[in-house]
Amino acid sequence: MPFQDFQGNHETITRIREMLARDRFPHAVVISGPEGAGKYTLAQMIAKTLNCIEQPKNDGLPDFCGHCRNCTLIAQSDDLEARFGEAVEAREAMREADKRDARIMIQTHPEVIVVPPDPPQMLIKVGQVRLVIGSVVYKPVEARRKVVIFTESSFMKEAANSLLKVLEEPPEYAALILLTTNPGELLPTIRSRCVIFNLGALPVEELESALSTSRKDLKPAQRELVARLANGAMGRALTFKLDEYIDARSGALVLLRSAIIGNDHTELFKITETYRAGAEGREKTDQLLRTLYALLEDLLMLKSGTHELVRNTDIRGEMGRLAQSIDFDWIVSASQRLAEVERGMRRNLLRSLSLDAFATSLER
Ligand SMILES: [Zn+2]
Repeated sequence: MPFQDFQGNHETITRIREMLARDRFPHAVVISGPEGAGKYTLAQMIAKTLNCIEQPKNDGLPDFCGHCRNCTLIAQSDDLEARFGEAVEAREAMREADKRDARIMIQTHPEVIVVPPDPPQMLIKVGQVRLVIGSVVYKPVEARRKVVIFTESSFMKEAANSLLKVLEEPPEYAALILLTTNPGELLPTIRSRCVIFNLGALPVEELESALSTSRKDLKPAQRELVARLANGAMGRALTFKLDEYIDARSGALVLLRSAIIGNDHTELFKITETYRAGAEGREKTDQLLRTLYALLEDLLMLKSGTHELVRNTDIRGEMGRLAQSIDFDWIVSASQRLAEVERGMRRNLLRSLSLDAFATSLER
């Protein structure tokens, strides 16, 4: 997948490739953008282009070949989720004594290090940054640039301070790439030492047209729906699981209907009963909460007369009816209560009961 396959944000991509062309790729960059915008894909493309042995050009700008030794080894980390899963599993299999010091790192090429947040807290820890420093002090042998990709910007305090030391005087052969959904989460002192590239949200039409070539499984109306639900992120649109979403949404609608119309709770209890303990239930509940927020946003759009921004276009009729039975205050208090449910989930309160309480407390 060369640069021309990267969809959207053409200007940013060209700017990056022009820097690569002048051999001026910065020592430290931040790539920011919403989930699914392609931040990691782009970082991998940069790592490959910096180190591709064949150094091909497309449209007069640097690209990567995708088949030389460096490209192939780096590409083994393209599937971040799979490599991350393996790294976590490998640590789980260690003896207790070794586990404590083992840090999660992904390194399929000797000179390219991928650093994901370390579970269970899902933060980047000082031990990980120290390993990076230990490696960055050595000149790359099997590549031109030593590349480090931090896949999230959730650093523990000590880890951020450690990183700052590297950023103050990065070796000339290093390229540190920090990915973030929220640049504000990074220390200002870190941000100010980085060049920031932003992958902005793409317009619905652009996502829809990409979907028409890549998601032939979807009908035109479904494509429109997915394009709206993807929040401007190409990766999200291309991998959107519409069936799962519709499933979660039907549960969310039962909750909303019960909260807005009230009276009979049989259907509500039947639904909330299915949100159980354990990892699977957690995933299911997270999705339900996300869907509820999205529906509340749509209700808000309908109430404020900005119908064109409604995302759940396929159920406009029902949403319109629900919107008629509520006012702004109701939407505000529903959002607040939803945030309470979310906090309760983190404290592991019983899911079905919290959801029941959410719906019944909002009844009118
Ligand atoms: Zn190559």
